[in-house]
Amino acid sequence: MRVLLFGREGKVGSVLMSSLAAAGHDVEGVEIGEPVDATGFDAAVDFTAPLAVRGNAVTALSAGVPCVIGTTGLTEEALAELDALAREQRVACFVAANFALGAVLMMRFAAEAARSFPQAEIVELHADTKLDAPSGTAKATALLMGGDVPIHSVRLPGLVAHQEVILGGLGETLTIRHDTTSREAFVPGVLLALDRVRGLPPGLTVGLDALL
Ligand code: NAP
Repeated sequence: MRVLLFGREGKVGSVLMSSLAAAGHDVEGVEIGEPVDATGFDAAVDFTAPLAVRGNAVTALSAGVPCVIGTTGLTEEALAELDALAREQRVACFVAANFALGAVLMMRFAAEAARSFPQAEIVELHADTKLDAPSGTAKATALLMGGDVPIHSVRLPGLVAHQEVILGGLGETLTIRHDTTSREAFVPGVLLALDRVRGLPPGLTVGLDALL
């Protein structure tokens, strides 16, 4: 596939540049401020910053190019706008807060465990360069667990992306933990999304779970 990658030089983008090419895709990377013509691409991938997503999505979707968006920190309004834009252009737009397969399983297990424990809290830990808090994964996990789950955010150098869901009950606790030790963890999920995005209905699809 011909893939347009927004965020070429970012921590995730730079890993994707080489990994998507190694998987056989023809990847063209774009950095902030560079002119873009999305015509002729099969899909666009965005790992940039919350304020950059709308412009990048408009560029891709208005050229009829489906989008795979990994950038987090998007508000409900921003997601609704992406949905409207994608429907208007009759193109699919896929958004996932976490492309690591283990993180998707962690969310599933946490949702299941929440049915058996009266209380739970989430601790999410990320690199100090992450712009948004709490993380999109923590918010999505809390929602799957029924909504009322406190989230604690830790930002420190040396961390990549980690999350613990701690559930407490009478005389016991259960901890479900996922650790991303390198940004290569996001590659299989992005490849899966690229493989599927053209078959998705027009408008927004949210979460890797929807593709598994
Ligand atoms: P990063 O290292 O700051 O990379 C972002 C890159 O995007 C930077 O090179 C930045 O350039 C560039 N950029 C900003 N605006 C742009 C635009 N309009 N067009 C093209 N490029 C633009 O951040 P990161 O760690 O790679 O993460 C990027 C995003 O992905 C964050 O929102 C993060 O939370 C999210 N993320 C998601 C997942 C997931 O699984 N969904 C996993 C990891 C990270 P400048 O440096 O010049 O501004």
